[in-house]
Amino acid sequence: MNIDLDERMQKGVDEARRDYIHRDKKRKQKRKIRRIVAFVILIGIACLVVGLIVHHFAGRAFRTEKQFQEFADNAYKEDVLYEGNKNAEVKYKFDKEFSVATRMSDDYSDELKSFRDSRINKITDYYKKEYRNSDDDMTYALIWDVSVDESDTGAESIAISSRLYGENSDGVTCIRDNVETHLYSTKTGRGLQPLQVLNTNYKDKAAEYVVEYIQKKYDKDELKPEWKKFVSAEDNNYNKFAFSGDRIVFYLDEDTVLEKSEGVLAIPVPDKVMDTAVRASILERYIDPNVPMVAITYDDGPGRKSEERIIDCLEKNGSVATFFYLGSRVKTNPDVIKRAIEIGCEPANHSWSHPQLTKLTDKKIKEQISKTNDAIEKAGGTRPKIMRPPYGDQNDHVIKTVGMPAFLWTVDTLDWKTRDAKKVFKAVKKTKNLDGSVILMHSIYDETADATEMIVPWLREHGYQTVTLSELVEYKTGNLPQKGTLYRSIK
Ligand code: ZN
Repeated sequence: MNIDLDERMQKGVDEARRDYIHRDKKRKQKRKIRRIVAFVILIGIACLVVGLIVHHFAGRAFRTEKQFQEFADNAYKEDVLYEGNKNAEVKYKFDKEFSVATRMSDDYSDELKSFRDSRINKITDYYKKEYRNSDDDMTYALIWDVSVDESDTGAESIAISSRLYGENSDGVTCIRDNVETHLYSTKTGRGLQPLQVLNTNYKDKAAEYVVEYIQKKYDKDELKPEWKKFVSAEDNNYNKFAFSGDRIVFYLDEDTVLEKSEGVLAIPVPDKVMDTAVRASILERYIDPNVPMVAITYDDGPGRKSEERIIDCLEKNGSVATFFYLGSRVKTNPDVIKRAIEIGCEPANHSWSHPQLTKLTDKKIKEQISKTNDAIEKAGGTRPKIMRPPYGDQNDHVIKTVGMPAFLWTVDTLDWKTRDAKKVFKAVKKTKNLDGSVILMHSIYDETADATEMIVPWLREHGYQTVTLSELVEYKTGNLPQKGTLYRSIK
């Protein structure tokens, strides 16, 4: 009995102990789990904090207004080529996605200011359209720097420089770096081509200095393999330059001499070096027989708005073109003809009412031609010396009957068909060597005016001078255009 009781008691104690041990084990397990969970949470929080800090520091160049201003100020500090720009006012336009800063002075003509503003707006819009929203994580900053300076010889230059930066968690990268330069006559306000300001030997002078400058300043492995191609005294090089005090600054595009990430390379060449390469006074018009030349031609005008825009563009770029007018349109737009002639363009005959000349009698052909010549002479003071048959439709008999040198074209932009400025521009760009080319467009379309605004600066930047058709024949063949001759291409 006692034993029983003892045994039972012992059993109870054992059970209680087992129970206790079991419960204790469970408790310890629970505590362990809790500790693990806490640890995991802690690690998680730590990672998050570190992540946020890293993210904050990696992407902090222009996420806030204050950061953006500091970023822009630093960009300007790093790059002062123009004495005048040091004190020029900086305007900041902060935007969470796309901020813009501009540095420029305001002490130049209203015309130049409005040209400057139109270029800035156009390119800013382009960048916004091209890049904004294309990468959700990316914030953009566009930094403008505009400088205007005068030479002693009556020329004025404007350099419009833009740098587009992008920022994401990987940091800041420079996406695009671009400079465009324009030259003007301070007397007339008209655009100038490089050779109206500098002598024909200027590229040799510049090349000599620039090549040495680059070799001194950069290690071989910093330079792109083909860098010498972009600094030789070739047609395409040294067309971008601006005055800066007693120096001429030449711009070399990004991704030519240095890697793309290094941006545009600006090299100031002292006036002393350029010396004999600077003209004593600017030439209002100058044609160099050794520089590639292009004749831009416009048919079917005179038009109104589109043609005025075309003339504005030619004037701003110191360029000229040949206009083949329809006699029937002259009376309503005589001022357009006058302006074109004033800036050096050539007026030409495109018949009175645009018929197929091959279907007309000799008498009718002669009437179409002479009536038109009379009208143009009355409106603009200059009698046309050349003609183009409507639709290019002609035969030997027609050419003999019109009694004027007749012209076709070599680059057909098909502007009347596509009505697409980019396609028109492409038609010009894809032609390998444009020297001696005759580009066909029509001055009565807005899209053609748009295309002109791309083509004319592009031609200048690529080393082409624009000439009238008569000039092209004169310089390429040594003779003036001949009556009874049909010119298809002029080489
Ligand atoms: Zn036509």
